[in-house]
Amino acid sequence: MHTKRFQPPRVSVVTLGCAKNLVDSEVLLGQLAGNRYRISPDPEQADIVILNTCGFIEAAKVESIQAILEALELKATGRVQKVYVAGCLSERYREELRQELPEVDGFFGTMELPGLLAALGADYKEHLLGERLLSTPSHYAYLKISEGCNHPCSFCAIPLMRGRHRSRPMEEILLEAQRLASRGVRELILIAQDLTYYGLDLYGRRMLAELLRRISDLEHLRWIRLMYAYPAKFPLEVLEVMAERENICKYLDLPVQHLSDEVLRSMRRGITGAELERLIETIRERVPGIALRTTLIVGYPTETEADFERLLEGLSRIRFDRLGVFTYSQEENTAAYPLGDPIPQEEKEARAARVMALQQEISLERNQSLVGSRLRVLIDRLEGRFAVGRTEHDAPEVDNEVYVANPDLQIGHFYWVDIRDAEAYDLFGEAYGPA
Ligand code: SF4
Repeated sequence: MHTKRFQPPRVSVVTLGCAKNLVDSEVLLGQLAGNRYRISPDPEQADIVILNTCGFIEAAKVESIQAILEALELKATGRVQKVYVAGCLSERYREELRQELPEVDGFFGTMELPGLLAALGADYKEHLLGERLLSTPSHYAYLKISEGCNHPCSFCAIPLMRGRHRSRPMEEILLEAQRLASRGVRELILIAQDLTYYGLDLYGRRMLAELLRRISDLEHLRWIRLMYAYPAKFPLEVLEVMAERENICKYLDLPVQHLSDEVLRSMRRGITGAELERLIETIRERVPGIALRTTLIVGYPTETEADFERLLEGLSRIRFDRLGVFTYSQEENTAAYPLGDPIPQEEKEARAARVMALQQEISLERNQSLVGSRLRVLIDRLEGRFAVGRTEHDAPEVDNEVYVANPDLQIGHFYWVDIRDAEAYDLFGEAYGPA
């Protein structure tokens, strides 16, 4: 007699938005794999599609809705049986989405992993805590040290979607870091809505410096990178750890958002332009050679031409190493919402373009000054006749890359590279040897 073998469903998880969402998807995939579900990177080959959405700004919402519609088309043609929507957009607009998209089989927020698993017929397995199915190349991984945010930034909808700040216990983070390192991760990228707040809610004091020391003591981690440090009340002791520890990248992502006092005040950032500049000086003094990345918002409702000029002046003085800029997006239920959205999109984009033109000059000069030097590079991928990697001054996806004229180098390995040429956002060089 033949009995039909149970075939677990094939699940595809589509991730939109930031690295924090990516980590959530990796945790979900880890749980699904632990429940013996088959995982398919391609939604067209799956029985179930889960969309982990983003609701950060207008453009991100549009992209997430587009992805949901594409998955629903697959369902309509019978290729896919079920479509679930999770993540930030779902957390924020669940009722509206439910009404508009009744074909979706279920909506889940950012903190409902057990509920989502139950809807799929899977169990939430406690012992899999920290076991993730990495979707990054195996030599680097993101590590989320906390969730949510307690800051009152007027433009930001993140606290509405991610809730108040919740630090993860240090032991849990260390265990996850150790597991990742033992699985071959060499670069660990610490993320949170705000890294600097770590510990305040759980231990009554800021503990990022101590956490960093303990992660730095773990074996096999060659690069530990910090992303998203809120500037107001920045815990300066973190800089000591950065300066003294070889395996902590001399790199910091410090989103300043603006440099005009009036705009910063309206944004409720708790810091002035002058204080920001002083903080940046201190960081550069205490951690020589550090690369600073920042993000900005242009076209904030109260931003005048004069504010914008102040921003450009400040940027010319500070000369950030890496920079990204967003145009303001008016978000419901944020403190800035009642200010309206008076600056036309065209003008916002023109301002963003001026910021990026300035940054391009700065970045080109900085890169050109590196020609003739020898830098340690971690190879991320092979592309034609090049091995492409990054220095400790560059985070994946968002920062500069180094093109090394040798496709025989190995992904995930470190090499010394002699820099021969530079463009605004890329360096070109030849490998000298393993580093
Ligand atoms: S620090 Fe401000 S901008 Fe960043 S997530 Fe928190 S509220 Fe949003």
